[in-house]
Amino acid sequence: MGTKDKMPEGKPYVYDYSWDQWQEWVKENGESGFRAGQIFDWLYVKRISNFDEMTNLPKTLRDKLREQFDFVTLHEVAHYRSKDGTVKFLFELADKNAIETVVMKHNYGNSICVTTQVGCRIGCTFCASTLGGLKRNLTPGEIIAQVVKAQQLLDETGERVSSIVIMGIGEPFENYDAVMTFLRVMIHPKGLNIGQRHITVSTSGIVPNIYKFAEEETQINLAISIHAPNDALRSKLMPVNRRFPFADLIEACKFYVGKTGRRITFEYALMGGVNDQPEHAEELAQVLQSFPMAHVNLIPVNFVSERNFVRTPRNDIFTFQRILEKNKINATIRREQGSDIAAACGQLRAKHMESGAR
Ligand code: SF4
Repeated sequence: MGTKDKMPEGKPYVYDYSWDQWQEWVKENGESGFRAGQIFDWLYVKRISNFDEMTNLPKTLRDKLREQFDFVTLHEVAHYRSKDGTVKFLFELADKNAIETVVMKHNYGNSICVTTQVGCRIGCTFCASTLGGLKRNLTPGEIIAQVVKAQQLLDETGERVSSIVIMGIGEPFENYDAVMTFLRVMIHPKGLNIGQRHITVSTSGIVPNIYKFAEEETQINLAISIHAPNDALRSKLMPVNRRFPFADLIEACKFYVGKTGRRITFEYALMGGVNDQPEHAEELAQVLQSFPMAHVNLIPVNFVSERNFVRTPRNDIFTFQRILEKNKINATIRREQGSDIAAACGQLRAKHMESGAR
């Protein structure tokens, strides 16, 4: 299936093509190979947003591009700036569907959290993004456009996007091919050239694609949203666990570590009284014993009005962390960013949908 088949309608986007696809495209269109590099440069180094600005391309080529491609329109419906510098964008796509993108400021640079699907069908019980189900996959270009847009804004202050997390709305491994094209463009030395080790893709546990990702020979980080230390509790919190049981997930993670020699980050959202008790920490530590480099990222869950979870008290968060560390599992507590602007995944979009939009 080509990129075009994934488009909701109309032409592909200029950002939909990887470096290799541009090489093919110029060849098929009777142009010299170096034109592909020029197009890539205009898109990702100069970051123009209109074909007429590609001034070193002949007009005939610009016309051909215009006939065959569109620029992604990310219409900014709103943006919210948190006291800590986090900026959350609510964008409307060409088909009026809404997505969220978050740009966070850290002392080591700016990171961006991108969305890969409109909605999500995974159904995690603590997540607002899944409330309306899955509308559609984003194309590679629609994912890339989020980064380009953020970079264009940062260009104004001479800053750059230095890291990417694929943890926004959607399950990236259910839109695997588009996400891989996105990643190839992000890391390409002639594109945005973002260091592979500064990119993390996070999955809820789509087991076959963990095996596939292990074979991709990248240095990109993998995070697994584990959220429970056993099969029964995980199935309650994450219906995906019924499709891909806990034991199979752990097996796939072991394969990934064996194949790549890279560590995995296990994301663990703490939900008050549900999965945050000392016995859960002990059980999780046992499960992760076979991962010598495992890292656990503890995430105190945000309140979602449609769900009934309460936050884990601070002391209990620290107790949970201590138990993991006592068992030689490295554990950090995610710093909350943008909580004053509803920055948790899907919350803005959920509000936007309540107001009658898509
Ligand atoms: S947490 Fe991620 S995978 Fe789970 S429902 Fe939300 S968006 Fe989907």
